[in-house]
Amino acid sequence: MPLTLIATGGTISSTGRPGQLDAQLRAADLLAALPSPVPGVRAVDVSTVVSSALRPADLLGLHEAVRAALDDGADGVVVTHGTDALEETALLLDLLHDDERPVVLTGAQRAADAAGADGPANLTAALTLAADPLARGCGVLVVFDGEAYAARGVRKVHTLRSAAFAAPGRGPTHRIAADGVTLRHRPGRPAARHLPPWADLPRVDVVATHLGADGALLHAAVAAGARGLVVAAMGAGNTPPAVTRAVREVVAGGVPVLVCTRVPEGPVLPLYASGTALRGGGGLFAGDLSPWQARMLLAVALADGSPDALQELLQDSTS
Ligand code: ASP
Repeated sequence: MPLTLIATGGTISSTGRPGQLDAQLRAADLLAALPSPVPGVRAVDVSTVVSSALRPADLLGLHEAVRAALDDGADGVVVTHGTDALEETALLLDLLHDDERPVVLTGAQRAADAAGADGPANLTAALTLAADPLARGCGVLVVFDGEAYAARGVRKVHTLRSAAFAAPGRGPTHRIAADGVTLRHRPGRPAARHLPPWADLPRVDVVATHLGADGALLHAAVAAGARGLVVAAMGAGNTPPAVTRAVREVVAGGVPVLVCTRVPEGPVLPLYASGTALRGGGGLFAGDLSPWQARMLLAVALADGSPDALQELLQDSTS
């Protein structure tokens, strides 16, 4: 079987007037709207929702649907998805993906019935890439506006324009154009994790920092049941003194804390006393991962439960 398309919703599946966009197109509708038909693609629907409404259980269900498509013999899988949370889903699928065959996520910035709808071109490119041998072994990829990015490090970088995604500091893995697919670089990936079938993704909260921030939100998150925290620190990994103290207290209480940055590009490094105090107090620096991707990585590590999972997953986070 050549390819499977799994639709989840998002703008690519939406129609209607601005202000009333509604995800309603299904996988078969998306295939029918392609400028040139792609024969033999199996259509599967798992949801028709905007991605901000997806819950952790939906993402694990999507992983199961991808797994089932591959078990059924698909050569590759394309997933259509809302752009807002796409980078989180892509990383989750990638952390669990244990197969040479590619999984390619795509979506759209303009609704299916809008002037200049970008969904059909993105879907065509995603199907092209998923069928191409150059995508094999690259894990989960995100295709937008003619370029592909590895799941790890991809970010939505614009709210509206069609080139909505980038991988700051890493760059695209592939280019997809009328003359075919070109490989730019092969992404490094840690070994896939295998979560037990009953696993759930535990609560992990992201806490932002800003001038004058204190530790109240970190402690409140733990009180609300967070099993792990991600701090979106300033600069290369610095936090106001009260936040630094709270990180050390939370870690001492057994809750792991990943340190990321609120800056869009570049890694975190303990260069200053604040960063050194964070690390000395057990904060784990998460390279150039965005807080949202670090959150997903920590949730998977906690769900996995093995003592080395977090360190292993953090490897290769500092491109
Ligand atoms: N704006 C979003 C999209 O591009 C809506 C969503 O994330 O579902 O699909």
